[in-house]
Amino acid sequence: MYETAVIGSGPAGLNAALYLKRAGKDVIIIEKEYEGAGQITQSICVGNYLGFQDVSGAELGEYFRQHVFASGVPVLEDEVTGIIHKDIWQAVLASGKIIGAETLIYAAGAVPRELGIPGEKTYRGKGISYCAYCDGSLFRGKDTAVIGGGDTALDDALYLSGLCRKVYLIHRREEFRGNNAIVESLRKRKNVEFLLKTSVREVYGQGRLEGIFLDDGRKIRLNGLFVAIGSIPRSDMIKDYVQRDENGYVIAGEDGITVSPGLFVAGDVRTKKLRQVITAVSDGANAAASAIQYMKFCRKG
Ligand code: NAP
Repeated sequence: MYETAVIGSGPAGLNAALYLKRAGKDVIIIEKEYEGAGQITQSICVGNYLGFQDVSGAELGEYFRQHVFASGVPVLEDEVTGIIHKDIWQAVLASGKIIGAETLIYAAGAVPRELGIPGEKTYRGKGISYCAYCDGSLFRGKDTAVIGGGDTALDDALYLSGLCRKVYLIHRREEFRGNNAIVESLRKRKNVEFLLKTSVREVYGQGRLEGIFLDDGRKIRLNGLFVAIGSIPRSDMIKDYVQRDENGYVIAGEDGITVSPGLFVAGDVRTKKLRQVITAVSDGANAAASAIQYMKFCRKG
């Protein structure tokens, strides 16, 4: 049995594990595929992580990973399929193993939101992608579109504009939620066209995506469509042990404390205003501090 099991190896989970290890705790990270550092690996340029002026998400994630590795935290690569609380917290794994821990820090992050329009599922992986950084190079010299008005969409459009012949940025409003400096640099790119106050109604193709219909009736021929409209928290696994808001985020303050003693949440899965790398890292530290506090004062026996 461990003192703490950390579920998820994004910035929140990694930093929580680092803090626990440095406090002398017996901690383990459980991660389905421990190859990056969560969603940040998909960010082309993390321009707002203090101390790193120009670093990609993948590079920053690698620094995080190396730091945690060097501290000696064990990582178990396995999928958590269930969480049970009896006397202790138990993570049930796809391999059949069960990992027991006195405290659990749940930092499983979020998954990309789908548009929910006709054709989306059919052409997923056949022209429709949810990760420009992963799939962008498949569309070199081709025509693509990005949907969304947040930092991810802007980031994606900027990246694709360096690869693709044409990039449409499609957003349902005129104002962007994301960084204005990136909006301005996109406006200067000759191969980027903004399509604002409009949405994609339907996608079409034959075997592969060939284009989209906008809700104003326009038809646009495309090779690739990148959906960047936010994310959905991976909170179902702990739903019986926490309170969630209407979007599924676990209700918790920055201390990560949930309604279940010994269970803490950190990172994008919890209710918060700003979901960025820096706030995820901060969450990890705070959740670790809460777990340490809990083990000090609330330990049974
Ligand atoms: P987000 O900020 O929630 O933005 C989602 C965007 O998608 C919004 O513009 C929203 O439109 C639009 N949208 C939502 N549902 C839609 C639908 N059904 N159809 C059409 N459009 C829809 O998500 P995000 O861009 O993934 O960013 C998530 C968090 O990560 C943010 O805090 C962001 O700052 C952070 N992030 C940071 C960086 C960086 O620091 N470099 C990079 C990426 C992400 P409305 O605006 O109209 O609601």
